[in-house]
Amino acid sequence: MNLRGVKGMNDVLPGEIGRWQRLEAAFRSTVELHRYREVRTPLVEPTELFVRSIGEEADIVRKEMYSFDQHGDNLTLRPEGTAGAARAYVEHGVAAREPLTRWYYLGPMFRAERPQKGRYRQFWQAGCEVYGDPGPATDAEMIDMLVSFFRELGIASVTVHLNSLGGPDTRVRYGAALVAHLEPQKDALSDDSKRRLTTNPLRVLDSKDPRDVAACEGAPSILAVLDEADRAHFDALCRYLDRLGTPYLVDPRLVRGLDYYTRTLFEIRGSGGDLGAQNALGGGGRYDRMVRELGGPDVPSIGFALGLERLLLAMPPDAAPEPPCVAIAPMGDVATGEALLLARELRRLGVAADVDARGGSLKSMLRRANAIAARVAVVIGAGELTRGTVQIKDLAQHAQLDAPRAEAADTIARLLAAAEPTGSAPT
Ligand code: AMP
Repeated sequence: MNLRGVKGMNDVLPGEIGRWQRLEAAFRSTVELHRYREVRTPLVEPTELFVRSIGEEADIVRKEMYSFDQHGDNLTLRPEGTAGAARAYVEHGVAAREPLTRWYYLGPMFRAERPQKGRYRQFWQAGCEVYGDPGPATDAEMIDMLVSFFRELGIASVTVHLNSLGGPDTRVRYGAALVAHLEPQKDALSDDSKRRLTTNPLRVLDSKDPRDVAACEGAPSILAVLDEADRAHFDALCRYLDRLGTPYLVDPRLVRGLDYYTRTLFEIRGSGGDLGAQNALGGGGRYDRMVRELGGPDVPSIGFALGLERLLLAMPPDAAPEPPCVAIAPMGDVATGEALLLARELRRLGVAADVDARGGSLKSMLRRANAIAARVAVVIGAGELTRGTVQIKDLAQHAQLDAPRAEAADTIARLLAAAEPTGSAPT
């Protein structure tokens, strides 16, 4: 039987991992400069957590969760990171210890969606959560942090779509206005949206079905029915973003797939790169009621999640050099022992070293040195052993020298420090 990985769940092989690691490091460094601290929660949570926080009507909960029964518990592979973080925040009584908390996470999420480019069943998200600040300045700072991060990654063409969903009262009022607009066209809606009309009409705005999109033409704007406090929050957020010079687009149709949002809602869309149709790079918003609904105190919160695979598709090809490495080619058993020792000395100096101990010909070892893009090859043969030297080949300069064995590691390290890094990555 030919075993293959699960459809929509990808391997990341070492040839691609450099880009991942650089993206992750850039994310950590940006958010840590904003004083976020990492939280790691389990990949598996009680199903009930996602049903309660994401909402029964959301597509994620209705059809995309990997859920299973184990020892009498109904469990789910996390489809997103916010619910687990909020659960941990409540469970560990964090609010009682610190009034303002900034957390970030990075890890795989699972949704049984139809796989396509930019949409997978296991995918990676990096996200942030702020607990304990109800004000719009935090919303603005978070959005500004994201825009700066995209710039740093070299993703130039992004648009921040911004909306406010108001509070529960606004949602009810707007829901009624939207139903009044859609009801006369009910027969033209998709089956899902016919159902949503009674369960959760706002979700019709989120539908990609052309029939629903057409029916939503001319629908009233939620921003027109915000109450005074919601409106003041939204206006202040826009003022802060203007002050920061952070560009955004007010988009009253923006709904997004998760039901827990209140007030601020945003999505970052990219264009160009290799993105194609899956152009939502990330999104988030306020969820002022979630912590309380999960049994915690009344703590307002805001967060976002970015899709790492999509960021990688949107990032420009990257020319980051591989760190220089040394290939050591020993001829025979005694030389191999010497090669292992020299490699250890090099690594202690922080130099990556690769010993080819397969016992092949010098030619095959030098071929391997080229294949792994080594900057330097070191040959240790019978002659070198007798003379107490090693032969150092500078593969970039096509030069070679003999160095006393005792000084070999220092000589090589100096040579690498003086050299320009090699450009091409090994495959
Ligand atoms: P969400 O958790 O649905 O708000 O999504 C946040 C971000 O995660 C999206 O903007 C995407 O970049 C990414 N994302 C969501 N679902 C997937 C998926 N199935 N495959 C790849 N990325 C995804």
